[in-house]
Amino acid sequence: MAEARAESAPVIQQRDTRRQLRTAPIAATTLWAGTLAEVFDARLFRASTESVASRLEKHLAGVAIRGLELTDPEILTKTARGLMTPERDRIAAFDEERLSAIVDLYVRTGIQVHSPGAMGRQFSGVIPLAGVVDFVSSVVNQPSSFYEAGQLPNVAERIMAEELNRFIGWEPDSFAMVTTSGGSLANLTALLAARNKHFPDYWSQGGGALAGRPRPAIAVGADVHYSVSRAAGVMGIGDEQLVRLPLDADQRICLDRARAALAEAERRGLEVFCLVASAGTTAVGAFDPIDGLADLAREKGIWLHVDGAHGASLLVSDKLRGKLGGIEKADSLTWDAHKMMFVPAPCTLLFYRDKRDSLGAFRQQASYVFDEQPDIYTALDSGDKNFECTKRPMIMPLWALWSIHGRALFAEKIEYLCQLTEDIHRILVDEPDFEPVHRPEANILCFRHLPDGLGENEVHRLQLDIRNRLKIQGNFFISKVDIDGVAALRVVMMNHRTTTEHFRMLLGEIRRAGYDLRHRDHSSDSE
Ligand SMILES: *Cc1c(COP(=O)(O)O)cnc(C)c1O
Repeated sequence: MAEARAESAPVIQQRDTRRQLRTAPIAATTLWAGTLAEVFDARLFRASTESVASRLEKHLAGVAIRGLELTDPEILTKTARGLMTPERDRIAAFDEERLSAIVDLYVRTGIQVHSPGAMGRQFSGVIPLAGVVDFVSSVVNQPSSFYEAGQLPNVAERIMAEELNRFIGWEPDSFAMVTTSGGSLANLTALLAARNKHFPDYWSQGGGALAGRPRPAIAVGADVHYSVSRAAGVMGIGDEQLVRLPLDADQRICLDRARAALAEAERRGLEVFCLVASAGTTAVGAFDPIDGLADLAREKGIWLHVDGAHGASLLVSDKLRGKLGGIEKADSLTWDAHKMMFVPAPCTLLFYRDKRDSLGAFRQQASYVFDEQPDIYTALDSGDKNFECTKRPMIMPLWALWSIHGRALFAEKIEYLCQLTEDIHRILVDEPDFEPVHRPEANILCFRHLPDGLGENEVHRLQLDIRNRLKIQGNFFISKVDIDGVAALRVVMMNHRTTTEHFRMLLGEIRRAGYDLRHRDHSSDSE
C-alpha cells in the first residue's frame, strides 16, 4: 500500500532522532534557537518534560499541611505578566527558567490537593499515574466523540462501561454509557433524554409541542445540585417548574412526603416527567432512597435519574455499594470519576439503562440513527449522544489505572475516606464546643463550632468568619454550606493521607480562629 509506505519514512527518521538523543544528552546549557522547527523538536519536548517532572516530583513528595494560599488577583496578574516574553515579532527561544517559573507559580497558587490540609472540595489530589496518562492524551490529542479520531479512547470507554456496569447490574447488551465534560453536562443530557422521551415533539417543535398540555416539571430533592435547576433553565422548563421534594432528618428525600408532593404538583397543573435522586448530595453526602423512589417513578410513568456525581463511585466497594440500593431500577446515572475515582477533571460517565434512550437527548427521533447504516467503526461514535463535538479522551486515565492496579485501588481509598469521616464524626460528638450537623453517609461532614456563650443569632456569622479566616491562614482548606438557613463548616475527605490527627489539628485551628474573632474589636472589622 502506497499510503503505508509513505508513512513509514518519517517513522525511521524518528528512530534516528532518538538514537541521536541517547548519544547526545541535553545539557542544561543547551541553547535553543527559537524556530518553528525547534518548538516541535522532540528533544525539546524531552528536556521540558524532564524539567517539569522533577518539579512535580518535589511537589508530590512534600508533606507540609497546606490548604490554599489566596493571592490578590491583581498581584497574581502582575506576576504572571512578568513571566511573559518581551519578544513580539520573532519566536522566542525556549527558556527553561521561564517554564520553571510558570510551573512553580501554577503549583503554588492552587488548592494544595495533595496535602492533608485540603479538605474543602470534591476534587482530589489525583492518582499521579492518572496525570501521566492525561499528559499522553494532551500530546497525542485524540478527541473521543468519533471512533476514527480516538480509537483506543472509544474502546476504553466501552470496556470501562462494561467494567462499571457490573456494579450497577444492567443487562450487558442493552445499557449504554457516554462520557461528558462534567456532571453538570451529564445531568443536562439525561434530563433532555427524559424530556424528549416524554414529550416526543418537543425537540422539533419546541414549546409549541405543549399546547393544551400541562407544563413539564422535574421533581428533585430540596437540596439537589444547582446544575439540575440550571438544566431546567437551559431547557426552558423554568425554575418554577422544579418540584422540590421535602427531606427527612438525614437530609434525604422523604419517600412518604414525595408521593404527596407529586400529587400536589399534578393538581397545580404540572406534568412531572423526571424525578432526580441524589446519590451523595453535594452539601452533606446524603443518599436518597433510590429503591423506593424508583418504584414511585415507575408507578407514575416517569424517568428516574440518579445524580451520583459524587457518590456513584461507592458502587465499586463491596462494603459501601448498599448505599445505592435499587440503582439497577434507575433510567440514568451520572457518575463523576474526577471526584471519588481520583482522576483529572473532567471525567464523567453518564449511564442509561436502555441504550435506545441514550440517542434521545439530542435527537427526538431516535430511529433516525438506527436508519443509518453504521459500520463497525462508526458504531462506536458517541457524537450523536453527547453535547460536545470535540471531546477530551477523558476515560484514558481511569481505564489505564483500572488496567494497571485494578478495582481494589479505588475501593480501598474510598473505604478509607468513608471510615475516616465516621471517625471524625465520633470525635466531634465528644467535643463540647462542636456539633456535627448530620451523621455522615460518605466522606462529607458538616459541623458547627459553638463555643461557650455564643448567642443563637451569632452562630451563622461565626462559621462564615472562621471559614474565611482559615482560608487566609492557608493551612487548612475547608468549605461552608447553609443547612436549614444556618451556615456550617464542611469538610470533604478526599486524601487518604489525612488522618484523625490532622482533623484534631483543624479543630484546634478553628478554636483559635473562633476565639480571635470573638475577642477582637468588631468595629474595626472590615470583612
Ligand atoms: C459535583 C456535583 C455535580 C456537578 O458535577 P461537575 O462535574 O462539577 O459538573 C452534580 N451533582 C452533584 C451531586 C455533585 O456533587
